[in-house]
Amino acid sequence: MTSSLLSSRIASLPKAELHLHLEGSIQPATVCALTAQHGVVMTEEEVRWRYAYRDFPGFIEAFKWVTSFLREPEDYALIARDLGEHLLTQNVVYAEVTLSIGVMLLRKQQPEANFEAILRATKPLESRGLRFRWIFDAARQFGADAALEVVESARRCDSKEILAFGMGGDELSIPTEAFRPAYEKAAELGLHRLTHAGEVGGPEKIREAIDLLGAERIGHGIAAIHDPALMDLLAERRIPLEVCPGSNLKTGALALQLQEEAVRIEKHPLPKLLHHGIPIVLSTDDPAMFHTTLHAEYENAARMGLLEAELARIVEMGFQYAFSSAGQTHRS
Ligand SMILES: [Zn+2]
Repeated sequence: MTSSLLSSRIASLPKAELHLHLEGSIQPATVCALTAQHGVVMTEEEVRWRYAYRDFPGFIEAFKWVTSFLREPEDYALIARDLGEHLLTQNVVYAEVTLSIGVMLLRKQQPEANFEAILRATKPLESRGLRFRWIFDAARQFGADAALEVVESARRCDSKEILAFGMGGDELSIPTEAFRPAYEKAAELGLHRLTHAGEVGGPEKIREAIDLLGAERIGHGIAAIHDPALMDLLAERRIPLEVCPGSNLKTGALALQLQEEAVRIEKHPLPKLLHHGIPIVLSTDDPAMFHTTLHAEYENAARMGLLEAELARIVEMGFQYAFSSAGQTHRS
């Protein structure tokens, strides 16, 4: 089968997106609209230049820059609406989107007001077949107290549409143990738990996420490839890895994990993880900042040698490992 026929078959399937950051999904044209609202006129070319980087610290800098223009609830409404339009082009019918509540709190904003604006902006998309659910996210480098504040924000928002508490940011910054209280509190509130781990860190970060934080899904987790016993555990306990190949290439995480300089997407460990029996959720992470789409990630997976039936199975797992029954039953 030709790759274009394969990709059009996979493209036609309804899909779920489970690892996707709202703030990393702002397309260049929308960034221009956003900066203009705050008195800074930019061209899309300039935004693209800002979105070009070669390593993880460079990516974090770009993320900080773009989020510095998210100042009012209406800014969040604008980008949430735009993300919805983008997801509809990808045949996404269900998305669990991560919100950087830690960044909102750092900037002394009110997460409740921003979240309300986001819900208002995304509700109308339900009638067009796209349903959103939300993950409140802390940035690890902001510390354990700030993480607890994020959980507290989820409590105050008191919405059934907030499904989980997660943590991203600099994986190597603060020891995992420090975040136990925040995850315990999240569990008490009935939130699911997840975290980025084993993206640029080693496999021990994934073990800690499971053992200390009770993580039910792992963001990235590609470092598992270095630890066969951990791979067994992920497979046996059905703990999915949210794998984002395009992101891993652009941040340098793939090169770092494989210890190779000029690494190509074909070398990504996704097939090995999948064939080991580990549930895989294929995702885009920050599609605008990594110049990717969900379709492009399926094409990446096909380039790694996965067969159509395997790709279809991954599409299926996107629904199966959703945190809400809305996602699990949303296949159409
Ligand atoms: Zn991520």
